[in-house]
Amino acid sequence: MSPTRTAPLPSLGNAGWLKWPETCDVFSALGAQGHEVRAVGGAVRDTLLERPVKDVDVATTALPEVVMELAAAAGLKAIPTGIDHGTVTVVAGNRAFEVTTLRKDVENYGRHASVSYTDDWAADAGRRDFTINALYADADGQLFDPLGSYGDLVARHVRFIGDARMRVLEDYLRILRFFRFNAELEFGEFDAQGLEACVREQAGLQKLSGERVRSELLRLVSAEGAYRAIVKMFEYGLLVQLLGGVPYLARLERLIDIEAGLGVEPDAVLRLAGLSVAVPEDAGRLSDRLRLSKAERSHLEQASGHRVMSVAMDEAQVKRELYIQGRAGCRTAALIAWAASGEAVSDASWCGLVARIQDLPIPELPLQGSDIVKLGVPEGPGVGDILKHAEERWIQGGFEAGKKELLEITGQLVKAKFGKG
Ligand code: ATP
Ligand code: MG
Repeated sequence: MSPTRTAPLPSLGNAGWLKWPETCDVFSALGAQGHEVRAVGGAVRDTLLERPVKDVDVATTALPEVVMELAAAAGLKAIPTGIDHGTVTVVAGNRAFEVTTLRKDVENYGRHASVSYTDDWAADAGRRDFTINALYADADGQLFDPLGSYGDLVARHVRFIGDARMRVLEDYLRILRFFRFNAELEFGEFDAQGLEACVREQAGLQKLSGERVRSELLRLVSAEGAYRAIVKMFEYGLLVQLLGGVPYLARLERLIDIEAGLGVEPDAVLRLAGLSVAVPEDAGRLSDRLRLSKAERSHLEQASGHRVMSVAMDEAQVKRELYIQGRAGCRTAALIAWAASGEAVSDASWCGLVARIQDLPIPELPLQGSDIVKLGVPEGPGVGDILKHAEERWIQGGFEAGKKELLEITGQLVKAKFGKG
């Protein structure tokens, strides 16, 4: 492999995460018997790119059982999360570190690589997906670059290690990771061989589990360069393959701009909704396909109700929706509706609607079941029915009625139904 260009290696010495007490504890625990320990992957890559680091993956020459023992001896919790392929999760304080023993993949059948451990850093680097992910740093922040790939990182070039097509055939998730890292790094051009391999083998995406697709896709859509990468996936047919439905590219683009205009952090599920949810069936299909959590599913469902939100709504109508859908649901629906409308990010009416959703109090029904019982309705389903009627009248009246007025209305209902009140 020829790196994009050679560049002198910097040190990571000042990286904040190297100084976290938890990182220090893990490095010193694993290094206690002279085993080599180095951070790898995202933490090293993102530090060099001056991007925030969330978690630290660790590579070590210690065998997995030894990692378990060394962690325990240092009073750290060790969980054998992927011990068959060499990974132990070591927990220090509130942080979890994925610690993987150096390995070279001997045979690869999909995800089930037959594993052989090694103390050769270059072999370990060689089994990783992209050159930008094969950089290591020790506890002092010294950078190690076994494949000479630092130049690719400087150039933000997402390049497969070895033959792109072979690497994709070994694990189809790498297709999604290719687009994800391109979205995060915002490189000018996609690597031609990598792109060709991903496009050619795109049918393999169908073989991936929903969980694996979920985590990569959510990262992809929330990346800074998400739109560009997603358009590229669309142009080559991968997006429809992945989502199983029609993508709304212009709506996603507008939604990303709206988020920026409002100064809020990217919301992965909202963006996914902007990209691919128009009706409740879309929300259901995507949630099933990507094994989304209950909360994520309901977020998508809220997005599918976007047509009810419009800038023409008066305050009472907004309150009504707040009461029915909740504040978060209204916000989601409004942002999608705004993105779909094509109106500018600075549009005063839409900004106003979002502000009303944020600020208006959510009405609370001033009646309870016990009030209905006091009117002489026997406890049971009849109480709920009457309450529901009263609630409907209260909503229709723009939430104006207070308890007294509502009791009067309810009294009439009770009289008509039970001859009491
Ligand atoms: P992030 O910052 O989002 O966690 P990451 O690069 O650390 O990005 P991880 O999924 O945490 O990604 O994986 C850690 C490292 O393990 C990667 O940098 C890469 O070297 C290797 N890796 C992860 N997934 C694969 C894969 N599917 N094929 C080959 N190598 C992989
Ligand atoms: Mg990581």
